[in-house]
Amino acid sequence: MYNVAIVGAGPAGIFAALEITKLKPDWKVILIEKGQKIEKRKCLLREGWEKCPSCKKCGLLCGWGGAGAFSDGKLTLTPDVGGHLVDYMSREKVEDLIGYSDDLYLKFGATDEVFGTDKAVFREIERQAALAELKLVHSPVRHLGTERSLDVLKAMQDYLDEKITILNNVSAQSLIVECEQVKGIVLDNGETIKAEYTIIAPGREGADWLTKEFDKNKIGFVNNAVDVGVRVELPAPVFEPLTSKLYESKLVYYSPTFGDEVRTFCMNPNGEVVQENYNGISTVNGHSYAEKTTNNTNFALLVSKKFTEPFKEPIAYGQHVASLANMLAGGVLVQRFGDLLDGRRSTPERIKSSIITPTLTCATPGDLSLVIPYRQMLSIIEMIYALDKIAPGTASRYTLLYGIEVKFYSARVKLTNELETEGVKNLFAIGDGAGVTRGLIQASASGIHAARTICSR
Ligand SMILES: Cc1cc2nc3c(=O)[nH]c(=O)nc-3n(C[C@H](O)[C@H](O)[C@H](O)COP(=O)(O)OP(=O)(O)OC[C@H]3O[C@@H](n4cnc5c(N)ncnc54)[C@H](O)[C@@H]3O)c2cc1C
Repeated sequence: MYNVAIVGAGPAGIFAALEITKLKPDWKVILIEKGQKIEKRKCLLREGWEKCPSCKKCGLLCGWGGAGAFSDGKLTLTPDVGGHLVDYMSREKVEDLIGYSDDLYLKFGATDEVFGTDKAVFREIERQAALAELKLVHSPVRHLGTERSLDVLKAMQDYLDEKITILNNVSAQSLIVECEQVKGIVLDNGETIKAEYTIIAPGREGADWLTKEFDKNKIGFVNNAVDVGVRVELPAPVFEPLTSKLYESKLVYYSPTFGDEVRTFCMNPNGEVVQENYNGISTVNGHSYAEKTTNNTNFALLVSKKFTEPFKEPIAYGQHVASLANMLAGGVLVQRFGDLLDGRRSTPERIKSSIITPTLTCATPGDLSLVIPYRQMLSIIEMIYALDKIAPGTASRYTLLYGIEVKFYSARVKLTNELETEGVKNLFAIGDGAGVTRGLIQASASGIHAARTICSR
């Protein structure tokens, strides 16, 4: 019998465990993680495999550290980016939680430099952005880099290993709910874990499982937006005036034709584009190392669309669009911006006779207009022209567009302000899997918030 059972050792689950062990050192806590310990984790794609082997448990997303382990480790220190925690509590409270979580990252070895804190610099870039009809979101960033992220998460694992029970390579299979109160979890090895409180933090990887279990227990959902787009890669000097000062510039644009929100996301100065696998579908992402650099900068351009009734499958929609790219290209597709405008596919020869060398070598040159819906495609083109005004060269015919980048934001669980499910008592849902967050720092903060609520009861 445990006081608290936690499902998922991503940032949300880890930070919940850290806070509980601090506030209630005598409590018995168990953390269940379906992937490996951090030192055993590996993603074959990142180790040079040409094609994603679609591992049964994705090495990139599963295991200690969750999706955070091989992430770029950019801690975006603002409530405006990376989640919806402000929908559950005041902005000041979210800021406090973010500051507290950031301090914990520092305590476990994060780098102390924060980009984007100089107000005068921000104002000037904000002014230039406004002239191009772009909104610059103030988002100071602490950048760990992939190597440092792994070190920090390993330090957390070592610390918690001595304080709580950690199960690896075991999945939570079903919730035990009696009289509208959670009593524990049944694992896929047949074991039953009884606990007074249960925190579910399975990330996007476990979102389908969460939806199924919550549906079974009549816990409701609300739709999140669907974000579909491309990853842009261009010579690093094009964005240097912004990246050298802000590291990551979060820019928002409302496309003139459709009025949809288009935003830059996950900017990686001197970074590389990577392929990801989501339930057998290849998508694209990007990251940068603290030490190893390339000559290119990459970032995503995502078009947000919130659908209305009767649609309720945002993840399936994103999967469908991404699978079209896979059907045509056998994986990720890449096209030069100029070829897209000229209405022709890119070919290996055209990609070669360019001023940019792609960092993702396994992408197949092709035609994105055969994949991305017209609405999103046009919004992306309009955004590229807007960006060209503050970073001339963005709309170059050589700029590379990789598809599809899609954010599988889980449907959002109906939760109280304490992140407890509406309908099942003592059951908490946090992090990306619950649709509450979309990034490392807010996922971590959601874990702290749930842990404090539980400890205060
Ligand atoms: C390549 C990449 C780069 C990224 N870069 C950044 C970045 O720079 N900055 C940023 O803010 N965000 C970044 N993100 C997003 C960030 O990693 C996530 O927002 C964050 O990790 C979410 O935390 P989480 O704890 O909610 O879920 P996750 O980190 O996804 O962790 C969930 C864990 O639960 C486990 N799990 C799932 N189902 C079960 C089950 N049934 N039983 C047991 N265990 C289960 C999974 O194996 C996983 O380990 C990146 C993501 C990726 C993939």
